[in-house]
Amino acid sequence: MGARVRRKPRSISITSGKGGTGKTTLSANLGIALATLGKQVTILDADLAMANLALIMGIHQIRTSFLDVLKGKAKVEDTIHENYGVRVIPTGFRFEEVQETLSGVDHARVRRVVEEILGDTDFLLIDAPAGIQDATLFSIASAREMLPVCNPTYTSLVDVYKVIRFANVMGAWTRGLVVNRAGKQAEVPVDEIEDFLKRTLERMGVIAQIPEDPKVQEAELEGVPVVVYDPDCSASVAIHELAEVIAGKAEPPYLRESKAVKETTDRLVRVLTGRT
Ligand code: ADP
Ligand code: MG
Repeated sequence: MGARVRRKPRSISITSGKGGTGKTTLSANLGIALATLGKQVTILDADLAMANLALIMGIHQIRTSFLDVLKGKAKVEDTIHENYGVRVIPTGFRFEEVQETLSGVDHARVRRVVEEILGDTDFLLIDAPAGIQDATLFSIASAREMLPVCNPTYTSLVDVYKVIRFANVMGAWTRGLVVNRAGKQAEVPVDEIEDFLKRTLERMGVIAQIPEDPKVQEAELEGVPVVVYDPDCSASVAIHELAEVIAGKAEPPYLRESKAVKETTDRLVRVLTGRT
């Protein structure tokens, strides 16, 4: 590590009950916002069905993916695509291929790969697929923390609630819920979401409200993340505020750096290989 500040890497899976809530948008823009706070950020695209993180991050040429490294066909450094000061690791294959790769993968290799990624980053954000299925399980179980995202609708809230319960069972720490596309037109006011969380999950509340903002889709059409496209629009401001909270004092219950790396590595290895 040399002169570098000792890192205590944090892994956060960004998850929701259904697709289209804004996970990829949040992963990309939160990653950039954390980078502007001086953090080293790596985002792993684990949404194997959509795999659109790289595109949203303005990366159009994918050389090698996470799976190539697990297969032993590439080095970790070859999978790291960088833009806007953030590292992006694409996975970009169908889940069947992932399972095929993983069934043949060497346990020690997975450990080395994960340790290598975690050893050189402050934040590993995992853009997870929606719902409760194998790939989501992989994403949630592999991260130490989870950041659930919902939209202000009853169905979205009920769906994300299941994912949060599931994450609790898996032992992922959830600081709070992100309500994306919030606003006056919303079906469920944020107060009501807070009440619901208090009644059902006790200590968890809404950690951020990101407003419905036409700039988000405008930016997407331009192929630029919104915090870069318009840093002062309401969605960008809310994402920057969230980054400050995430990077802030309220740290998850990690003990020491070495333990944080080991624990996350163990979790990833376990879900990737099904072994301990
Ligand atoms: P997911 O990854 O959960 O499937 P995406 O991040 O791809 O969701 O977002 C789905 C769509 O919603 C995209 O077209 C995106 O531009 C739009 N969107 C996300 N957040 C907002 C927002 N705060 N305001 C307006 N549109 C948004
Ligand atoms: Mg997505």
